[in-house]
Amino acid sequence: MNAARQLATLALVVMPCLPACADAEAEPFRTADNLILISLDTLRADRLGAYGNPRDITPELDRLAARGAVFERVVSESNWTLPSHVTLLTGLAPDRHGVVSRSLGVGEDTPLLAEVLERSGFRTLGKTDGGNMSKRHGFDRGFELFLDDDDGLEHTLSDARAFVERLEEGERYFLFLHSYEVHCPYDASDATLAELASPGASFVETDGRCGDPHFNEAHLDASQALHVADVYDAGVRDADALLGDFFDWLDARGEFERTLVVFTSDHGEEFLEHGRIGHAGTVYREALLVPLVLAGPGIAPTRVGTPTGLMDVAPTVLELLGLPALAGVDGVSLVPLLRSGADGDRDDARFSACQAAELASVMTRERHLIVDEGTGRVQLYALDADANEQRDLSAIERDEVARLRARIEARRALAAGRTHAPRSLERLSDDELEELRALGYVE
Ligand SMILES: [Zn+2]
Repeated sequence: MNAARQLATLALVVMPCLPACADAEAEPFRTADNLILISLDTLRADRLGAYGNPRDITPELDRLAARGAVFERVVSESNWTLPSHVTLLTGLAPDRHGVVSRSLGVGEDTPLLAEVLERSGFRTLGKTDGGNMSKRHGFDRGFELFLDDDDGLEHTLSDARAFVERLEEGERYFLFLHSYEVHCPYDASDATLAELASPGASFVETDGRCGDPHFNEAHLDASQALHVADVYDAGVRDADALLGDFFDWLDARGEFERTLVVFTSDHGEEFLEHGRIGHAGTVYREALLVPLVLAGPGIAPTRVGTPTGLMDVAPTVLELLGLPALAGVDGVSLVPLLRSGADGDRDDARFSACQAAELASVMTRERHLIVDEGTGRVQLYALDADANEQRDLSAIERDEVARLRARIEARRALAAGRTHAPRSLERLSDDELEELRALGYVE
């Protein structure tokens, strides 16, 4: 295709409705029949080439990104699995859905994306790797088939293929595919690891070990942390290859012409940037920034720099599927950003919290404020100039600190009056405890 035709096609798909039907704002805007939502748990945004990683470990995800919309600054609202995924699947911030501890599940009155789609006639498959993503937390609601056995990404993708192949012609479907493939204990093929071994990295056993309690109590040095990060990277590359096969299968079926594919993660991972390994302990950007890529019909290749969050995913996909918006959610549809790239009046401050350590975070286009509500410590970082968040500007930019602290307080006040009631769960069984122990969540 020549450049002029490419541009014309791009303009058509980015702005299907402008300006000829500029007043069509209230009308349903359906571009896709089906939805595949993939969450590769614990994947830092900066590991993707599409997010600037010079190390070529995600060629397949980069290929997906090149054909779709890449949201460059996606801030997870929580730094661990359960609250983040409830946010992803409800459009509600963690302080609104309330599912912020392992002893809680999604409240009966909290609508989940799968329930909305099932009611709209979609065939629905949920496949997770269990643990914090198991049925007991309510994630199975709305899925005609929900599997939460921890059998890895390869099985998950083959279950997805089998489910789609069994559908009747024209049936709409929703697949939610979650995997701990790159979550600790880090694991990778020997061949990939050998290729990615960094000079200066010192071997440390990663098999069966997670950030908490193992690595953080072992006080790894920088060279050992580098090895741990290499194993993580190698696992990312292996996962990327599996996803590439799945995307090829979708392509061969022509699915990208009718199916919206959303790829994301629930939080990042730390490798001693701020003294820790793992996640759920801090809210620095390596723990919060995740990828978000949308590909499919009507989505032109584009990059969006406006800060967004996981809470925006459910409103966005509903709009692209031509379904009514969820009432009273915190997230907003990203479709206007896809159409025009314009930010409008969009609030660019994204709030996140870490329940375990009373940390609150607000990230805007330019600054990242972290407040430790337990100790009162405040940190402020410049996003572009200080990629590793090493230079605290809080003593210099006092006005900015005050402005962003007010955002945290406003957020708290808003949430206090409007929280959904989460469901209290029974005590964990021994098997469930063992599963969480293997993922490093319990001692
Ligand atoms: Zn997670």
